[in-house]
This record gives sequence, C-alpha cells and structure tokens, in this order.
Amino acid sequence: MEKIKDKFYGFEIDAWKCNGCKEVIYDEEDIQPILQYNKLKESKKSLTVTVGVLGKSKVFRIPKIAEEIYGINKGEKLKFDLKPNEISIKFNNKLYKH
Ligand SMILES: [Zn+2]
Repeated sequence: MEKIKDKFYGFEIDAWKCNGCKEVIYDEEDIQPILQYNKLKESKKSLTVTVGVLGKSKVFRIPKIAEEIYGINKGEKLKFDLKPNEISIKFNNKLYKH
C-alpha cells in the first residue's frame, strides 16, 4: 500500500493505493462528510449561514460539514477573497487534513 493524494468528488484527500491491483482506498472519516455534502448538493439545497452580531462585528458560524471536510481549528487563519456578490474563504495550507 502506498499513501497518495487523490481527488474524491473534487476534494483532495489522503488515500491508499494498492501496488498490486491499483485499487484506491479512502479513510471512511475523510469521505463521509464529502458524500454528505454531495447529497446536499444533489438535493439542490445549499449551505446557508446566518449572520449574527458579536459586539460591533458581524459574525457567522462555519457550517459543521465544512469543519468536517476541512478540519478547521481554532486560531486558524482563513484567507478571504472578495468578489462581486461572493466571498471565497481559502485555507492557508493543510487542505483536507484529518
Ligand atoms: Zn490490491
């Protein structure tokens, strides 16, 4: 078995590849939230967050599913990119870690 990075529904995750039959094996813990998210998208639902207020700031929670897929931790710096009608949030390094 060889440790590799593989794409699973577009998400890059750690996987194991058998050197014999080339079968790729994923960690259940990595793929479950991605499958869950995929199911959500297939049902035409979208993730929504509600804006709250904390002191003078507006805040919103990171959806649990995003936390599970990306493994977001307290103190982590997320990079915001503002686009017309859209905010993209990028993770510095360690993408899709578990
Ligand atoms: Zn094999």
